[in-house]
Amino acid sequence: MKANVTYWLDQTAQRLPDKTAFADERKAVTFGELRTQAMAIATQILAKGLFKKPVVVYLEKGVDVLVSFMGAAYSCNFYSPIDIDMPASRVNKILEVLQPSLVITTAELSEAFRQYAYEGEYLLFEEVSCAAVDEEAVEAARCRGIDTDLLYVLFTSGSTGVPKGVTINHRAVIDYIDWVTETFEITEKDSFGNQAPFYFDNSILDIYSTIKSGATTYIIPKNLFAQPVPLLEYLQEKKINTIFWVPSALIVVAKLKAFRNVDLSGTLQRVLFCGEVMPNKQLNTWRKFLPDVLYANLYGPTEITDACTYYIVDREFADEEPLPIGRPMANTDILVLNDKNEPVTGDEIGELCVRGTSLSMGYYNNPQKTKEAFVPNPLNPYVPETIYRTGDLVKYNEYGEIIYLSRKDFQIKHMGHRIELGEIETAVSSLEEIALCCCLYDEKRQKIVLFIEAQLDKAYINERISGLVPEYMLPGKVIALPKMPINANGKIDRVKLKELL
Ligand code: AMP
Repeated sequence: MKANVTYWLDQTAQRLPDKTAFADERKAVTFGELRTQAMAIATQILAKGLFKKPVVVYLEKGVDVLVSFMGAAYSCNFYSPIDIDMPASRVNKILEVLQPSLVITTAELSEAFRQYAYEGEYLLFEEVSCAAVDEEAVEAARCRGIDTDLLYVLFTSGSTGVPKGVTINHRAVIDYIDWVTETFEITEKDSFGNQAPFYFDNSILDIYSTIKSGATTYIIPKNLFAQPVPLLEYLQEKKINTIFWVPSALIVVAKLKAFRNVDLSGTLQRVLFCGEVMPNKQLNTWRKFLPDVLYANLYGPTEITDACTYYIVDREFADEEPLPIGRPMANTDILVLNDKNEPVTGDEIGELCVRGTSLSMGYYNNPQKTKEAFVPNPLNPYVPETIYRTGDLVKYNEYGEIIYLSRKDFQIKHMGHRIELGEIETAVSSLEEIALCCCLYDEKRQKIVLFIEAQLDKAYINERISGLVPEYMLPGKVIALPKMPINANGKIDRVKLKELL
């Protein structure tokens, strides 16, 4: 039994050494090069005596990030990417949780990294990726590793302002990618067009399906997502036949009806999406222009290795109908529990909970948050068994498919990004002029709305908090109130605020 995802790379590099594995705007690596460079990095990591330790990857999005990920995996350590555009205070919070002793970066980026609260070691990508490989040392480390050792930690928004590090082990990714490649019949003939940032778990599907099957992934330049026609031309030029994007990216293309200018009918075969609600209105535009494509709605949080349910679109939907999130993937069980922790019946609404191999092992270095979300299965009092409570409210339709309804809490999805409104409130509250504030999401206008009890405007607030939260969390509208409405419990009255949207 292979307990490490890098065994896939060994096999593919042997089978297809000269085939392009990943390509970005500036460079490409073949499977052979990917393996050699990753092994070189692994050799250097092991030379530092690290085993099962966090390795931060601080690089611009591109091929080098993936080489570094594989380097960490070969050495039986686990990677955690940090976005180079992330505000310093958030990077510091992540470093505090992770306590890494190694970062892979470039000489140039290491200058920026030195401003953070980090005293560990540096590996410079340009030096280590071409260093000598010690196959024996790497193999010895891999043999000591087991499949429940961590592969990566991805940080998501945390309501208290401290990002949560979702831990995922090798087995979970192996399980998920086996399912993906079998279900969608991914082979070396396929080409992915990657949209997801590598700190977002949708990218797992592109990365590991490619490594396992010998497909090719093109990392699409980010700026193309604001220009639908050049974006589709890019897909055509690179002969990309499979995309797995957040609905927001698909919606932009649909709204501008970019298909009128570029005919992808002979190229695109699979359009997969995950991460937020995909409205049928926009999906219907895609389906009208590209009727022969396979469309699939995948659903799941980072805590369950990208996705846990799926629906392959197999019938017509009216624009206003919800698109099902479908049924559980293989080797995954979904429990929909009501307020009494009992399975729902009929079309009763309940919280979607997940059981299975692909469950995260918890939030890194955060037992409190782990205990809240990863709980004992209330339906199995006989042996300890963990389920993950997603916080998503769902129900079954007449076909036995799951329909996503809403969230139980204040987590939102904005342009594909997972955001805890509490994280924005924590940042705003830290400003001395602010006594009370509250954030709501205006679903209709797709705007984060901030209410404050202070006479300050959006430009001022956003400038002040831009060093605390990522750009995508900045409020799109600020409403200054003379007095914040308070409910009978003495809390900010969110219902009243909603009426002001
Ligand atoms: P993330 O951890 O960033 O993948 O975000 C997970 C959350 O995104 C889930 O808990 C849902 O609230 C939402 N989500 C993911 N996929 C879907 C989907 N297909 N339809 C509706 N909501 C989704």
